[in-house]
Amino acid sequence: MYKGIAGSDGVGIGEVVIIKEPELKYERASALTVEKELERFNKAIEELVEKTNAMSEEVRKSAGEAEAEILLGHVMIMSDPALSDEVRSLISDGLTAEAAAEQVLDMFAAIYEGTGDELTMQRATDIRDVKTRLIKALLGAEDVDISALKKGSVIVVHDLTPSMTAGIVKENIEGIITETGGKTSHSAILARALEIPAVLSIDNITELLKNGQSVIVDGIGGEVIPDPDDKCISEYRAKREEHIKHKRELLKLIGCETHTADGIHAELVCNIGKPADCKDVLERDGEGVGLFRTEFLYMDTDRLPTEDQQFEAYRAAAAAMDGKPVIIRTLDVGGDKEIPYLGLEKEDNPFLGYRAVRYCLKNPELYRAQLRALIRASAFGNIKIMAPLVTCVDEIRAVKALVKELMAELESEGIDFDRNIEVGVMIETPAAAVIADLLAAEADFFSIGTNDLTGYTMAVDRGNHKVAYLYSVYNPAVLRSIKRVIECGVDAGIMVGMCGEAASDPLLIPLLISFGLNEYSVSPTSVLATRAEILKWSKSEADKVAEEALSCTTESEVKDVLSKYKK
Ligand code: PEP
Ligand code: MG
Repeated sequence: MYKGIAGSDGVGIGEVVIIKEPELKYERASALTVEKELERFNKAIEELVEKTNAMSEEVRKSAGEAEAEILLGHVMIMSDPALSDEVRSLISDGLTAEAAAEQVLDMFAAIYEGTGDELTMQRATDIRDVKTRLIKALLGAEDVDISALKKGSVIVVHDLTPSMTAGIVKENIEGIITETGGKTSHSAILARALEIPAVLSIDNITELLKNGQSVIVDGIGGEVIPDPDDKCISEYRAKREEHIKHKRELLKLIGCETHTADGIHAELVCNIGKPADCKDVLERDGEGVGLFRTEFLYMDTDRLPTEDQQFEAYRAAAAAMDGKPVIIRTLDVGGDKEIPYLGLEKEDNPFLGYRAVRYCLKNPELYRAQLRALIRASAFGNIKIMAPLVTCVDEIRAVKALVKELMAELESEGIDFDRNIEVGVMIETPAAAVIADLLAAEADFFSIGTNDLTGYTMAVDRGNHKVAYLYSVYNPAVLRSIKRVIECGVDAGIMVGMCGEAASDPLLIPLLISFGLNEYSVSPTSVLATRAEILKWSKSEADKVAEEALSCTTESEVKDVLSKYKK
């Protein structure tokens, strides 16, 4: 059995089909004139853009809008003048178009890869996908076509690229196994959209399995079982049936209100990265947006987005959600989230450095543009503004002062906006948790970012495998912190939400109910499962679990208690 990351849930039983990209061989020095070589490059780009636009249309039909956007992102990379100018310049120095494209795209990919952040690193995968396809187009090599795979196939591949996915006939594919990628990688997003079970990130799996071998893909437990015997197959068939039944049951919760078993109301909203994701939120019955990560607006271009461009994006999200709350986080740059054109200096400790609200307050022109766009968009829906990585009261005061000043400016320009727009604080540092009482007096709401709060509280760099065992929200230090933040917010009468991954963790839900969390912000795919969990618990039952969990002294004791009570 091989263990990987559970990328897309469900159980698939089928036959291995190993997909390998052909080796692409080419000369470095061009034997052609520079003009001829440039012509080859221009033609290849033109054809690739056309083909990718067509693929994106196919994916829109087979998987959905957000998945089609991934391929449109590839068109943007192909059409990016910063990239093509570099390639042309290397061609002018005598390189073949293939060698020039490889050098430039690898360089850009390396910048994104260096960040260590999964979402940013995803862009590196996109750039490398574009690189391979561009070189193939130049060499006249065929794209891998997986549309012809027969029923019952399990795709085993180094990385499932968006361009490969365009050809998938979902009825024929039992499962996907990859050597790279995590829960938020494009391979995972695409597999989930197609509802194909997937296990990701198993080293060397394309060598370990053989074509035609029988295999089980358990996308729930993140396991791959080669050559299963009859007993194992019937066990997993039962697991598959159970899963399908559970999903069908969850669908019944569409349209239901989210509350505890004894009727305490909770808001169940979603985390998004772009306005187009609102469609997923509504389809999955999310009750609003609890975190719109605006970094993507800044990452998807090679220069700062203008105030008007941002306004359009925020307005689109607010309008799509039609009066439901949309919490938009201001730019969370730095640390693991790098934006190359901002030219941030390398720092020894980027996670403790010049980032997020710190950077924004020191770059008022950039921050003013974003805040003006947000305030203007508030006229079109229920927008709330949230500041990331706050560590002291001065920061939230400064953000609020700027918002007030910009409101006066917009007023004098005769521009309409919501005069009661709320400004909240993201609680994701130990400092913010410790002074949660002071922050609660200034902020209109809290949202707990458990991804960072866990890392900063435990002083753990998530990218460092040697200390990864400490990165757990079940540590008493993190739980006490969460409890304190919620209690301070509740005491001050403000809304307290949670937008880190922990908000959809079924083990934690009784604790969050007991502490009094008002809002859960989860990925659209987790909405119904989270609603089902909240519905199971009454406050008094949850209190009992919380009391026992908080009396534990170690992380593993906490986990044992929570698992013992899991319903
Ligand atoms: C968090 O830190 O929990 C969070 C939601 O923000 P991000 O994952 O974008 O850092
Ligand atoms: Mg964070």
